[in-house]
Amino acid sequence: MLIDTHCHLTYPGLLEQADAVVARAVAAGVSRVITIGTDSADHIKVLAQLQRSSAVFGALGVHPHHAHAAGADFIATLRTQFAKNCKLLAVGECGLDYHHSEAPREVQHHVFESQLALAAELNLPVILHVRDAHSDALAIIRQHPRTAFVVHCFTGSVTDVELWLELGAYIGFTGIVTYKNASHVADACKYVPDDRLLVETDAPYLAPVPKRSIKTNEPSFVLHTAAHIAMLRGTTLENIAEITTANAGRLFGARLLN
Ligand SMILES: [Zn+2]
Ligand SMILES: [Zn+2]
Repeated sequence: MLIDTHCHLTYPGLLEQADAVVARAVAAGVSRVITIGTDSADHIKVLAQLQRSSAVFGALGVHPHHAHAAGADFIATLRTQFAKNCKLLAVGECGLDYHHSEAPREVQHHVFESQLALAAELNLPVILHVRDAHSDALAIIRQHPRTAFVVHCFTGSVTDVELWLELGAYIGFTGIVTYKNASHVADACKYVPDDRLLVETDAPYLAPVPKRSIKTNEPSFVLHTAAHIAMLRGTTLENIAEITTANAGRLFGARLLN
């Protein structure tokens, strides 16, 4: 059993075929999929997907790309949605993106910190999106020592991953770890201890080798990322499946595995 801990079933390319995508994942042994909502319109679509399959769980957050569009009452809306739906396992994705976000940095900081406060209030883990903003994100997370979190789609170096691991992070790897031009990510992946490792697709983006030529990534392809990670770490796919599933259950809660 494998778990795709981060995908976007509600994004174009997947939404039109979401039921078939989930069926293919389950048939491939990817028996749980966590679909991530990134703004208020997307949250409604995620909630609809949770009704469609027992294999699909969710997380809701405001992505740093959408931070400038979060309404004044977005935390109150999220609080209501979390209270109503027990298949929502985490707050996120949220964080900081200095690479190509339209949202000013101070807005990103405010929206991120509000979501960390909500996660603490609801006792939920956080899914972090961090791009070109590791030192600022580390500084903010250090203020929340009791919050469990995953740094999703990890693209940093061994030095970056060391800093995150010191704060108790789980580290999520996508198909990027299979790319020839991302050897620093492969090095970071080898460095992560067994009990901190997660696998994900970030579908519809970032299809892993050997599916990279396929435009739309999908949760079943997490198998290729897990197999590559097994090769990098000198172990078996079965071992990677076992440890990453146990880690996902510890981070997101036992209800994910039931
Ligand atoms: Zn992300
Ligand atoms: Zn994402």
